[in-house]
Amino acid sequence: MSAVSNSATELSTVVIVGTGIAGASAAQTLRSEGFRGRVVLIGDEPSPPYRRPTVSKDLLSGATPAEKTALKPDSFWRERDIELITGATAVALDTGTRCLTLSSGESLYFDALLLATGGRARRLDGVSGAHVFTLRSMGDADSLRESIRRTGSLLVIGGGLIGCEVAATARSLGAEVTVLERDRSLLSRIVPPEVSTMIASLHSENGVDVCTDVALSSLEATDGGTARATADDGRTWSAGTVLVSVGAVPEVTLAVAAGLRADNGITVDEQFRTSADGVFAAGDAANIPGAHDDERYRSEHWNSAQAQGIAAAQSILGKSEPFTDVPWGWSTQYGHTVQFAGVTRFDDDYVVRGSIADRDFTAVAVREDIPVGVIAVGRPKELRTLRMRLRRP
Ligand code: NAP
Repeated sequence: MSAVSNSATELSTVVIVGTGIAGASAAQTLRSEGFRGRVVLIGDEPSPPYRRPTVSKDLLSGATPAEKTALKPDSFWRERDIELITGATAVALDTGTRCLTLSSGESLYFDALLLATGGRARRLDGVSGAHVFTLRSMGDADSLRESIRRTGSLLVIGGGLIGCEVAATARSLGAEVTVLERDRSLLSRIVPPEVSTMIASLHSENGVDVCTDVALSSLEATDGGTARATADDGRTWSAGTVLVSVGAVPEVTLAVAAGLRADNGITVDEQFRTSADGVFAAGDAANIPGAHDDERYRSEHWNSAQAQGIAAAQSILGKSEPFTDVPWGWSTQYGHTVQFAGVTRFDDDYVVRGSIADRDFTAVAVREDIPVGVIAVGRPKELRTLRMRLRRP
């Protein structure tokens, strides 16, 4: 294959680390933008790129089999001559020689490298053992499903997006479910208190025991083969399976070992360039500049990772436009879909149209008279329209 020239440099090989939506979208974009050099897409999971949002929903329940969650058919990568290497970890990066080393010992030389390494589940000190799971990958979902089915009871530590979605899915599997949240309310980083109350009611109506203001002090295995959690105030809970869903941390190990600048993610500029020439980063692992001087942020949403992957690929080809994406996402629980966009804060004011209690509303977050976020249930068109008008984070 011949190299194509672009305004930035002469490229013949682009290597992408990470087969999540950022990496996969970047590979696809390189081809759709006409790049004819070598594209190598490397992931440490055994499967080709798949729709990760299913791991807490229909893949976890078993309603959708693994093969139906593939992002694209296998032929898609072959036909575009994208070299997909799965089950391989990138273990070393030499930015001077532009060489990436894989766990197999293979060395890959590149002209441009995109780090789309994503994140990993945060763990809690002292909380581990055979009953304890985290959820990020398809393999994690398989293990968690098997344990929920076998033990029939689930204790969820952390009532964020994963915790709430898994609680709903576990109920559909017939398990007894308890959610322990440290904050006063569920999903408190994303929705205002009224919406949080509505979501807590939804879980209670569906048989989940929702416990908030929980300061966990210990989790231990009992003689009966279950796990027992104890809070500072003496409350205790037991279950056969424990899910720790207390947030994600950006996967920056490779980048930091290679000497790249990183602070809550790999630091990139507005064109997704890292501190090393020829090395780019996008998706959950990237810390990107905001719309305002000195403001930076990291988004952990599927749609943002996709937008960043596309933009980073364009940047690699020297074709980048200003990045204007506003993060947005959705969460489906018991058949209700909560959509959200923008980056909200606990002290934002909200203007509500419709009824939160009736689960049919849009709530616009306003900060200093500027709309910065929107949450909606049952109103996808309104959300889409409002999303376009939000201030970039
Ligand atoms: P998350 O949404 O950040 O929620 C973590 C929750 O755990 C927070 O409510 C947090 O409370 C709570 N928590 C932290 N430490 C705790 C403790 N010691 N005891 C009890 N609660 C504790 O993170 P996540 O649910 O683990 O999800 C991980 C990642 O997957 C996120 O990036 C998320 O965006 C992504 N994801 C997205 C979707 C979606 O978009 N639909 C679905 C699933 C996963 P505080 O606020 O008090 O820290």
